[in-house]
Amino acid sequence: MILRASVIVTMDGPPIRNGAVAISGARISDVGTFEQIKAHHSGEIVDLGERSLLPGLINAHCHLDYTCLRGRIPRPNSFSDWIRAINAERAKLSEADYLESVRAGFAEAMKFGTTAIANLTAVPQLISQLEPPIRTWWFAELIDVRQPRRAKEVVDLAVEALDSGPGWGLAPHALYNVLLTTHLAESPEEMAMFRDASGPLHEFLKEIGREMSDCGGKTPLEIFIGAPGSPRRIRPVADGRALPGWIIAHLNELTESDCALLEKLPAKFHLVHSPRSHAYFGHSPFQFERLRQLDFNVCLGTDSLASNDDLSLFAEIRQFSKTFPNVSPEEILRMVTVNPAQALRQENALGKIRRGGHADLVAVPFRGGGVFEEIIAFDGEPWVMVAGTRT
Ligand SMILES: [Zn+2]
Repeated sequence: MILRASVIVTMDGPPIRNGAVAISGARISDVGTFEQIKAHHSGEIVDLGERSLLPGLINAHCHLDYTCLRGRIPRPNSFSDWIRAINAERAKLSEADYLESVRAGFAEAMKFGTTAIANLTAVPQLISQLEPPIRTWWFAELIDVRQPRRAKEVVDLAVEALDSGPGWGLAPHALYNVLLTTHLAESPEEMAMFRDASGPLHEFLKEIGREMSDCGGKTPLEIFIGAPGSPRRIRPVADGRALPGWIIAHLNELTESDCALLEKLPAKFHLVHSPRSHAYFGHSPFQFERLRQLDFNVCLGTDSLASNDDLSLFAEIRQFSKTFPNVSPEEILRMVTVNPAQALRQENALGKIRRGGHADLVAVPFRGGGVFEEIIAFDGEPWVMVAGTRT
């Protein structure tokens, strides 16, 4: 099949005017101008007309478990109130509710042009019952603060589910393939809890039985960096990768000493910022410029619908560009394509339109203005293809 569009935004070189992509099965076999592609490839020609064709978007942080909680949690007075509210809602959910919620989330994410997703789940035992319509990296969430020993049980369950499941996700063949994710330094309350052993989150977690002896003295980042398996101990292995790969969500609260610590880290981790969830909570400003300067790979994610309105990454892009008007539209688009592909160690297969890559593509209207400007202003449902199939 040949897909023609007025612009091909490969993210692997300059945009190609009057371009085309040749697709063979689920993969991209070639990309170039329409004339070049037509001369070298046969098959059905699908003309997308006045549109920009770009790589499918990648959501680097999401909890599809909570799709059904959209609009159900009133704006909280504090982060701990929000956790209380979400816990109360979660207690009402059956396994069937969770399955329905995750399925609805997948459908919505895909409708808005997301073709790959890093999804945290608190119910890893259900993964085998799902057939994700988009590429999915599952992360089993270790959420019960009262029973740290249950962590092993959850991990075992997740690995078992993945082994018998549809084949996406973790299933590491070697240690350097392990991806880990955590929420870190998200709220001022988390900072107060760890550094000062005080505040509403400290009270709340103490009340529900968390062991609090690690609080008082260190910032969340300092605790994370000092923990086993954390980036301080990461050493690049032979193929240049670091082990294991950390994808850190949020990192809103940073002290001056935290920034000095980040500067000295031998291996930089990947970061996910969720612009609309950030605005919902009114967190401290995300220090994008500083983190970019320190060479952190910044990606965007929607987080869950317990703190967001929908699963559109285009809406996250628009929010980000409003907050950071000096960041170029092309760089912003990288945060939902090239950067998360790198975080997921899929830089050759996802996030770019290139030979051999997965045929995961989206197209949005092109009105003849700035290509990247128009893409980041897009508000709607794009044309979507996953693995060579129009959805
Ligand atoms: Zn989250």
